Amino acid sequence: MIQETMDYIEKMDPEVGASIKEEFARERRNIELIASENIVSEAVMLAMGTCLTNKYAEGYPGHRYYGGCYAVDVTEEIARKRACELFGCNHANVQPHSGASANLAAFMSVVNPGDTVMGMSLPAGGHLSHGSPVNISGKYFNIVPYGLNDETETIDYNALYDLAQQCKPKLIVAGGSAYPRVLDFKKFREVADSVGAKLMVDMAHIAGLVAAGEHPSPIPYADIVTTTTHKTLRGPRGGMILCNDDDMFKKINSAVFPGSQGGPLEHIIAAKAVCFGEALKPEFKAYQHQIVLNAAALADELLKQGFRLVSGGTDNHLMLVDVRNFKITGKEMEHRLDEVYITVNKNAIPNDPEKPFVTSGIRVGTPAATTRGFKEPEMVKIGQMMGMVAKDFDGTADEVRKEVNELCARFPIYA
Ligand SMILES: *Cc1c(COP(=O)(O)O)cnc(C)c1O
Repeated sequence: MIQETMDYIEKMDPEVGASIKEEFARERRNIELIASENIVSEAVMLAMGTCLTNKYAEGYPGHRYYGGCYAVDVTEEIARKRACELFGCNHANVQPHSGASANLAAFMSVVNPGDTVMGMSLPAGGHLSHGSPVNISGKYFNIVPYGLNDETETIDYNALYDLAQQCKPKLIVAGGSAYPRVLDFKKFREVADSVGAKLMVDMAHIAGLVAAGEHPSPIPYADIVTTTTHKTLRGPRGGMILCNDDDMFKKINSAVFPGSQGGPLEHIIAAKAVCFGEALKPEFKAYQHQIVLNAAALADELLKQGFRLVSGGTDNHLMLVDVRNFKITGKEMEHRLDEVYITVNKNAIPNDPEKPFVTSGIRVGTPAATTRGFKEPEMVKIGQMMGMVAKDFDGTADEVRKEVNELCARFPIYA
């Protein structure tokens, strides 16, 4: 089906078709280790390419501003119901176009412009949308960023408590994009309660792990939970907001529409529904468990190869690798791996002496490689190859490239 779809697009529009096929070839050829990426099922992918893209459906199921919504009402209701079942919560808004849109709507539901908000700083592993000065969150709210303990490179909950007493935030945001350890939502709740703040958890990276019980759930502790649907959760590119409280749900709904978005993407919502259906199956639990096992196996091998890992290791699907032991930068390591068909992103490490476009580290995650079928032996091999290109790129690149080709041929995607 996927091949036929691409063939058809190429026939109708050779330029666009060729670029899509180029990306397909890249995804098949490369080992994907970008921690925020995944490889969706054919059903999820095909749901996105359906006639639901034609429909305007401003509003919510049963309360739309357009006629003819009876079919998409069913689709969106399935998505909402499955999301609630998957995460054990009362309410789900499945309309946010992305994680950043979900976060903006979540902020609008609980704070007003100018209010004080605590979020994890970008250098510590937080996300742009948690209050970076270049993001709307940083421009409209008074952001007090928190960081990591310099020694443990993990969140210091005592320091978090002290900072909250000083700045008395209205909202505390937990969650990040490059944090390899378990988040203690109970401690976040205690800090929030000590100053009467709301707690928002952005579980974008770990949503799949949470759904499968591989990471504690924020639902019992947070007032509002946001997520993307395309990372560990392995759905279409998009966002979602969850909560338990009825009044909070009303505020969230109006903050999404009409607060910050127009018509929902019902074709994407259909793909979200398919994704949640997959995530409710037992195989998804096994998949998420393997993601964590694979990350642990890769982390072990990287340590053996002589890399330093931020915080010493990982509890989840990702790790931050400090590459300075090999006298190279994150940018150089990303480039070397690109050349041997292994895809990662350079990433600042805590207190990184290098500029953000250079960095001293790379972020490495296992969700996509695990979808491909890789298990511990393949992860050890990948760790060895990363060691080889860090130590002697010119002497090993050809051999590593060959090895990557063999691995990807043995575990093909969309075969
Ligand atoms: C990826 C991510 C987002 C943003 O998602 P987009 O869909 O790219 O807007 C938000 N928060 C966190 C923690 C993320 O990791």
